[in-house]
Amino acid sequence: MEFAQRVHNLQAEGAYAVLGRAQELEAQGREILHLEIGQPDFRTFPHISERGIQAIRDGQTRYNPPSGLPRLRQVIAADAGKRRGLGFTPAQVVVGPGAKPGLFFPTLALVAPGDEVIYPDPGFPTYPAMVEIAGGVPVPVPLVEENGFSFDLQAFDERINDRTKLIILNSPANPTGGVMPLADLEHIAAAAQEHDCWVMSDEIYARLSYDDRPVHSIASLPGMAERTVIVDGFSKTYAMTGWRLGYSIMPEALAERVGLLMTHSVGCTATFTQFAGIEALTSSQELADAVVPEYQRRRDRIVAGLNAIPGVRCQVPQGAFYAFPNITSFGLSSSQLARRLLDEAGVAVLAGTDFGSYGEGYLRLCYATSPDVIDRAVEHIGAFLNSLG
Ligand code: PMP
Repeated sequence: MEFAQRVHNLQAEGAYAVLGRAQELEAQGREILHLEIGQPDFRTFPHISERGIQAIRDGQTRYNPPSGLPRLRQVIAADAGKRRGLGFTPAQVVVGPGAKPGLFFPTLALVAPGDEVIYPDPGFPTYPAMVEIAGGVPVPVPLVEENGFSFDLQAFDERINDRTKLIILNSPANPTGGVMPLADLEHIAAAAQEHDCWVMSDEIYARLSYDDRPVHSIASLPGMAERTVIVDGFSKTYAMTGWRLGYSIMPEALAERVGLLMTHSVGCTATFTQFAGIEALTSSQELADAVVPEYQRRRDRIVAGLNAIPGVRCQVPQGAFYAFPNITSFGLSSSQLARRLLDEAGVAVLAGTDFGSYGEGYLRLCYATSPDVIDRAVEHIGAFLNSLG
């Protein structure tokens, strides 16, 4: 069968592929410890779920405007603006089914065939995929382990040029847990202005940072709000991955175009889901805030456990819920090691290379799981690696 060129290079996300293999092993009766999928292990907070259920009972099951319910756009503008020290209008906010459409549609609106797009590697695999679909040229910038997995700024300076249309940032980051220092954001902001390019700042993990480390948005830097698309959502902060609710914030003229892409693709986002989103943002933040110290304890547990394994070196991630240990000393590729850990040790993790070629030499472990699973996974990984000698 002949398919259009734009879908030739598309690949499954590593997390779904590993989950599929892990489930095959479970069907054969094997016990598998799951550290592959990046989502909170707890349920959506009850008052949020109840609001969604109530909205269905109230008949909120019909079409609504393509860019989102006016009330939700209004509360997002207020909340996202307050958290970043910026003023947003509701017209700058486009709601979508998850954060992913907030990445995809602004990219389609901005990137023309041949335009170059800089993105982090290792990074979220959707970035290069969506750039290729748009006909753009993905240009990876390596991250530096010693620098808390921020951009290699020298490599960035070598790659940015007048063909660069868009720079994608993700802080706190998937898969590394890195948080970009303010000085690095300032460097990137100056380059974006010099080369007149847009920035897409994926801030889906902005509420998950540890040790009181501040998370800065590049949009707050002088001259940047008018060239930045902020992407955020409800999936991680409110444990709402399956509700499909996210948003992006951008200059009004771009938001209008992105709203038209919503109109002709998804139509609109589920109405009752948006009522749950209004509840999430306008009710007490106690539960959402309380998970942060809990994740921090789990982070400390997994990082200490991994670093106690001879040959493993794991930086302390500053945000999100991923550990990204360096496993180069074992002489296996990260995909070989990830596969053997699943098949031989019963631990499902992702290879660093599931996030780009600069992820070679690393594994990604999601620690948004119970302390018991973390302990047993570390124990099995340690025993397996020790057996390799
Ligand atoms: N950006 C990053 C960096 C992510 O890790 C994820 C989810 N894994 C998303 C965006 C997508 O979020 P959503 O499920 O809300 O579409």
